[in-house]
Amino acid sequence: MFCQQCGTETQPGYNVCPKCGKVLSWPTAPLAQSRLSRHLRTVGTLWIVVGALWLIPSIILLALGGIAHLAIPGANAIARELGPFVLMLLGWSFLVVGAGGVCVGWGLMQHQPWARVTAIILGVLAIFHPPFGTALGIYTLWVLLADEGGLEYQRLTRAA
Ligand SMILES: [Zn+2]
Repeated sequence: MFCQQCGTETQPGYNVCPKCGKVLSWPTAPLAQSRLSRHLRTVGTLWIVVGALWLIPSIILLALGGIAHLAIPGANAIARELGPFVLMLLGWSFLVVGAGGVCVGWGLMQHQPWARVTAIILGVLAIFHPPFGTALGIYTLWVLLADEGGLEYQRLTRAA
């Protein structure tokens, strides 16, 4: 390293420049990052991706629900009524889950105050949907619950 004041090259281990006496500030190693700060972005991205994946079937289901009455033969009145209804219901529930996933992922990446608790709740729910939901749920909880009491997350929130 070179002295910031006089430019003399100094050997590692010197705290003071041997020539001009300036206190040397060696570049410090980056602080060991916490699990939260290392993984928060990844968790957020995964939720956005998973949410987006849920939106695709939801749009297909809603579209099918919209045209189902054309596909069902007129004689079957119950199927005519019920078919589109079930498709729409499934489509809307997929839409809510997908939009929720995208929102919480975005919220985590933006360090939104509400996103941590929401992600923990969604993470617990996701665990019951193997295999990907389980993996994502465990990963989410592993990252977010490492942050005891959410103190570090609160600091990120203020910094954002
Ligand atoms: Zn110097």
